[in-house]
Amino acid sequence: MESARLRVAVLASGSKGNAALIEFGDTSILLDCGLGVAQLKKRLSLIGRSPTDITAMLVTHEHGDHCAGAAAVSSRFGLPVWMTPGTAEALNGKQFARTVRFNCHANIQIGELVIEPIPVPHDAREPCQFLFRAHDRRVAWLTDLGHVSAHVARVAAGCNGLLLEFNHDPDMLKNGPYPAFLRRRVAGPYGHLSNAQSGELLRQIDCSRLDALVALHLSEVNNCSDRVRAVIDESLAGSRTQVEVASQHDVLRWLEF
Ligand SMILES: [Zn+2]
Ligand SMILES: [Zn+2]
Repeated sequence: MESARLRVAVLASGSKGNAALIEFGDTSILLDCGLGVAQLKKRLSLIGRSPTDITAMLVTHEHGDHCAGAAAVSSRFGLPVWMTPGTAEALNGKQFARTVRFNCHANIQIGELVIEPIPVPHDAREPCQFLFRAHDRRVAWLTDLGHVSAHVARVAAGCNGLLLEFNHDPDMLKNGPYPAFLRRRVAGPYGHLSNAQSGELLRQIDCSRLDALVALHLSEVNNCSDRVRAVIDESLAGSRTQVEVASQHDVLRWLEF
């Protein structure tokens, strides 16, 4: 029998709502839930899934684009929601079917999947992103971080799959419609990674095993996929890595690792 592989599908990515499905064997994890019940069901159906297939929900941080639908979806389908104590504190008052608090400095196991939480610099209470591991395969999910810490760079190096934030183009942000305080927040050390920052990361780390790269959390106002692809092409020059750009409106179907 062929051994199970990690599968990832991105249901939505961006400031209006984030959600993805990560699977290994019979374990299916909903990573963030910025979508309501109806949207979630609709998008899951496009990848051949329904909410009853989901084992658990895993939440990166309390911002609405990652959590707006979490309570409704959790209580409707009886899903446990895994989060850091800080995120749980920030979401205090929301009704979940059940919450599981985890230490973001230790591995967690949900079903058959071993997951390493990665603390990140972002303006939330206790945000973390994740490294998923199965056999010798490594897939990192890294979004909503203001700069690349040494720890994040170590995690990203040598991965088979990288799902990485490309939030904004620095020039488009500078010349765009956002008010000054918002521009400072987005570009600041606890905001979001720019195309330039993520491109720089790719140039710094070992990408020799990188089968697929997915750009996440593009700003619809301060970025465009052409610019993201140009930065990635330049940073991964000559490699055969599959490149995808996740979007707010379209589901990115299964990638296997
Ligand atoms: Zn976000
Ligand atoms: Zn955020």
